[in-house]
Formats: sequence, structure tokens, C-alpha cells
Amino acid sequence: MENWVLVLITFFIALDYGVNTFVNFLNHESSKKPLDGDSQKLYLEDEHKRSIKYAAANYKSAFLSSTLFFIIFVLALTYNWFATLDNTIRERLSDNSGYFSEIIISLVFIGSLAVISNLISLPFGIYNTFKIEAEYGFNKSTPKTFVLDLIKGLILTLLLGGGILTVVLWIYQELGNLFWFWGWVLVTSFSLFTFMFGTKLILPLFNKLTPIEEGELQDEIKKYCDSQGYSLRKLFVMDGSKRSTKANAFFTGLGKSKTIVLFDTLIEKLSTREVVSVLAHEIGHYKMKHTFWVFLFSNVQTFILFFLLGWLLRYPELSTALGATEASFHLSALAFFLLFSPLSMALGLFNNALSRRNEYEADDFGRETYDGKALAEALRKIGSGSLVNVSPHPLYVAVNYTHPPMLDRLRNLGK
Ligand SMILES: [Zn+2]
Repeated sequence: MENWVLVLITFFIALDYGVNTFVNFLNHESSKKPLDGDSQKLYLEDEHKRSIKYAAANYKSAFLSSTLFFIIFVLALTYNWFATLDNTIRERLSDNSGYFSEIIISLVFIGSLAVISNLISLPFGIYNTFKIEAEYGFNKSTPKTFVLDLIKGLILTLLLGGGILTVVLWIYQELGNLFWFWGWVLVTSFSLFTFMFGTKLILPLFNKLTPIEEGELQDEIKKYCDSQGYSLRKLFVMDGSKRSTKANAFFTGLGKSKTIVLFDTLIEKLSTREVVSVLAHEIGHYKMKHTFWVFLFSNVQTFILFFLLGWLLRYPELSTALGATEASFHLSALAFFLLFSPLSMALGLFNNALSRRNEYEADDFGRETYDGKALAEALRKIGSGSLVNVSPHPLYVAVNYTHPPMLDRLRNLGK
């Protein structure tokens, strides 16, 4: 049977790579469409040309990176690299008595894969930031910021990811069949924690958050916030300009932990009315309880995922398909995630569709409670300022876009 599992895994990886490459290609072609009546609202001829070149540069870089990962995966499956890595770690770390030795082996195995995949991605990260983003005038990240981000990210992953994983592995060792349920409870509690306190505890490690400065903008924001019963203390300006000139804003958190963050680049580029209209959009997310639904759906999905994982971990064929002689948690879990790539793609389609629907609702809220024209103008400035693709392919939108395409949003606001 293990051969069948291996055939399925290889087929799904190839399918995933094939579908994504095809969809990216369609999008690349679609982005070159000449300007028409609608898209002229966003770009002049010159800007449009620049946006096409920018999209093409990103397309090529993404194609190289995904192709490299695909080749490495196929080689790893063909030559049993995963089992070899597992054996190497076992030889060095196994001791006869060790209650913890299986947990440590799993941790080192998963940690090694994470390090290797980060090392492969690193050159692409450097190229995208310091070549593509810099060439189009977006990059503000210095090498120092870039390296510090990497180190901080690594420490966070090690502490939080490593910590959670250790407990999951311990639960697996202790509870066996009930593992999937308690594993899910643990992961859900942790994601609730980061949802509630992420902006307070994690975001400040990377960015400075400050209350909005006194002045005309603060007055106008206060007036709008008061009319909506939203506390000004839950609103911050973030130094997005530390890394990029692109403007943005977001809403996060649940209940009392709600937070709206406006990038300093947004305030710099937009008029007072436009900034407040973006704020109205974000308050729309809060009023419509979007984060609650996103949180709920994502936990229903992890529930299904843990259930299937718990069920399939009983079959040693998952591990042996990757070339191992004995079953282990980490090899089976790896085979599981590879096997479920079609399911995770389907879930991604659903999540993106939900997110795009929420964006329309938040736009509608902004139009109804403040100013639709100002919001449209703000979106136009944000979009053209970051050289968005004005004519993305619908399939690419379905697979990748959490926000509706710019022209669709402008059309919706103009209704
Ligand atoms: Zn939004």
C-alpha cells in the first residue's frame, strides 16, 4: 500500500504545482491587457506600463521559487531524503532509556525542515526586497532591518512554534487515539491568544505603534469614532514606512482586544477625508464581526484537519511511503500534509471568497456611514501607489486574492 501512498503524494504535489503555475501564467497574460474605459480610472498609460513590468518581475521570481521547491520535493520523494534525515537524527539522538527521545527527534526533524526551507526561500526574499521592491521605489527596509526581522522571526518561531509543537508531541505520546481532539484544543487556545494579544505582544517587536497625533485629522477621526461608538484608544498609527512606501490599514482582534492600525504611509498620502473613509471601512469589519467569523471558520477547519490527522496517523503506511522502515509522528504528519494539499487548496478558495465578501461589506459600511467617494479615491491612491494589477485573471483572484480586484471595489463603491 505504501507505494500507492507515495504515488498519490507525488501526484498531488505535481497537481498543486501544475495548477498554481497555470493560474499564475493566466494572470501574467491577463495583466498585460491594454487600458480600457474602466482601467483608465486607475492608471495613466505610463503608470500602467510600470505596473505590468512590476507584475512580470514578481511573476518570474515566484515561478523560479515554486519550481525550485517542486524539484526539491520530487527529488526528496524519489531518493527518500526525508527518511534519510530521520535516520541521521535518530542515530545521533536516540538513547535507550529516553522517554523524551521520540519527542526530541520529531522536534529536530521538523526544525531541520523549517531551517532548510527558510534557507531556500532566503535568496528570493532578499531579491524581492532589495531588487524588485527597490527598483520600483517601494523598499524602505535597510539590510539591518531585514536581518533583525529574520532573527526576531526565528526566535518567535522557535519559542512559540517549538513550544506548541512540544506540547502537541507530548499529547500524542500520552493520549494516542485522543490526541487529535486535545491537539486541536491546544492549537485553538493558542490561536485565540494570538488573535487577542498579537497586536499588543507580537506586533510591537517589529513596529512602533503610537496613538494618533492631535490636530485636524484626530478631530475628524474622533468625530467619526464617536458617531460609531468606537474608542480612540483602540486606534494606532504604525511606522509601516520602516519597510515599504506602500500604504495600508487593518482591523484585528476580538471583542475588547479590537485594534485598528493605520500605516503612517496611509496618513502621508491621503487627505483627511480619505483617511477617515479607510477608517470607516475598518470599523465596518469590527461592526460586522468579520474577525469572529474568520476565527470560527479557521478553527472548524483545524478541527477537521486534526480529526483526519488523528485517524491517518494510525496507519504506518504514511511513514513508510516516505522511505522509513518504522512509523514516526513527524514523517506521517509530513505525508499527511502533502496528501491533503488538494483539500487545503479547496479550503483556501473558500477562505479567500469569504474574505472578499467581507471586504465588500466593509466598503459598503464605509460608504453608508461616511463617504463612498472619498473611500473610492483612497482605494485608487493606495492601488495605483502600489502598482496593483488592474486586470487580474479571475482564477488567480479565486486562488490568491483576499481582497476583491481594485476595479471591482471601485465599481461596487460607485453603485
Ligand atoms: Zn478590509
